[in-house]
Amino acid sequence: MAERMLQFIKLPQQTPTKREAAARKDDFSEIYESFEPGSAKAQASRCSQCGIPFCSMNCPLGNNIPDWLKLTAEGRLEEAYELSSATNTFPEICGRICPQDRLCEGNCVIEKGFDSVTIGAVERYITDTAFANDWVKPVSPAEEREQSVGIIGAGPAGLAAAERLRGLGYQVTVYDRHDRVGGLLIYGIPGFKLEKEIVLRRWKWLEEGGVKFVLNADIGGKIPFAQLRAEHGAVLVATGVYKARELGGPGAGLKGIVPALDYLITSNRRGLGDATPEFDSGALNAAGKDVVVIGGGDTAMDCVRTAIRQGAKSVSCLYRRDRQNMPGSLREVKNAEEEGVNFIWLAAPEAFLGDEQVAGVRAVRMHLGLPDASGRQSVEAIEGSHFTVKADLVIKALGYDPEDIPTAFNEPGLNLTNWGTLKVHARTFETSLPGVYAAGDIVRGASLVVWAIKDGRDAAQAMHKHFSGLSQAAAAE
Ligand code: FAD
Ligand code: SF4
Ligand code: SF4
Repeated sequence: MAERMLQFIKLPQQTPTKREAAARKDDFSEIYESFEPGSAKAQASRCSQCGIPFCSMNCPLGNNIPDWLKLTAEGRLEEAYELSSATNTFPEICGRICPQDRLCEGNCVIEKGFDSVTIGAVERYITDTAFANDWVKPVSPAEEREQSVGIIGAGPAGLAAAERLRGLGYQVTVYDRHDRVGGLLIYGIPGFKLEKEIVLRRWKWLEEGGVKFVLNADIGGKIPFAQLRAEHGAVLVATGVYKARELGGPGAGLKGIVPALDYLITSNRRGLGDATPEFDSGALNAAGKDVVVIGGGDTAMDCVRTAIRQGAKSVSCLYRRDRQNMPGSLREVKNAEEEGVNFIWLAAPEAFLGDEQVAGVRAVRMHLGLPDASGRQSVEAIEGSHFTVKADLVIKALGYDPEDIPTAFNEPGLNLTNWGTLKVHARTFETSLPGVYAAGDIVRGASLVVWAIKDGRDAAQAMHKHFSGLSQAAAAE
């Protein structure tokens, strides 16, 4: 008999088993285990099936959460999968790495005093079960179309668009400068949050559906952008943002001060079995070192926890605001603290000490001032509050800005916003160049995987409209 819903009154919130910090901090496997079937069913049954589901309204994809929770509670998992995958291209990935505390779960309105429904863990469970039962079929278009689309960037935005367009029958080729598919899912985000097999199986799934990949293809470098425009009926730019924000101050150029993404890419490549000379030489290896990571976002959290797993002597995170005002997920801070990371809140680096090689960071204490025009509290240094943290490896994780795409693509007519991101029409996703679209971080600025998926899906729909308009015009001639 189907489980009754509204079980939150007698059934407490239960998250999937999290491996003990002592056991997990030596490896790069995911720290959360999957739900057991009984737990997923029971946890889904805690949902009170709100008439106005704030969880869905705060999911960027507008996922139909109450309905797939109900189906899960009833044991109707294949239907739950169909519903969940109708609005999300990669539900098992979002279920693992969305900051649910700030999105769906943070807005679950179960009666006051009861913890939210564990939406992300159930979402992951549904699609992992679907893969295990072979319910996840490659996209299979009802009709083939002649028009082709070139997508630059095999991150979540490009891949979500590729799946949608291929489903509509377009001939889709995805180009990426890396040798593997996934963008930041494969080379940025570490395995302890998202195991690489999860990303690799989606690559295979897309290929089986007829999406073509051209890898090691640097558009604007090896392959001119104009060539892609000539070869395809439309082009989608989904290149993400990679220009790391720099640190200033005396000693900022010392050896041993490294960009976060170089550090994470090396670690991820090593996990994938690639040669990693910069790890072997010790330049991008935290083993035995006092490590200081500067920043408070997802990237900083991934760096501190990677350094722990590489066997650092100590790992500190310097962030100029406090815990409540950090951009990264609070769940990840808690995980990092459990693993032994020392957070130094309200502190900013002023200078880097050492002759050739960094030996320490001189920092100053900050306090939060009045909110600025954006509503965010300003930060001010407290005079005379300097202190030093020992460091042989300093990792800069201060965020990313977009690269100069018009120059890289030799297209001065490609318009930018004031923030340097690509300017697109809000509804059509088209840039200032006809037939060239853009989606994901390169439009939005550094954001989240779930937003990249949403933008990729929406851009695909807009491109389809563009092609449909062209066909109608041709038919009318
Ligand atoms: P990307 O994922 O960056 O993919 C862009 C792709 O374009 C890359 O593969 C790149 O190689 C390719 N490319 C770029 N230029 C060219 C070119 N000229 N020619 C060919 N190919 C090119 N978000 C979350 O939701 N949860 C998290 O836990 C989380 N953790 C993160 C951790 C880190 C370390 C980082 C850096 C980001 C994290 N994010 C997280 C953010 C998230 O990864 C991004 O918002 C998302 O990946 C953006 O997707 P995208 O497709 O726009 O770009
Ligand atoms: Fe929540 Fe993300 Fe899933 Fe939406 S996609 S339901 S925000 S975990
Ligand atoms: Fe269920 Fe919470 Fe969503 Fe309400 S807000 S429908 S209780 S998951």
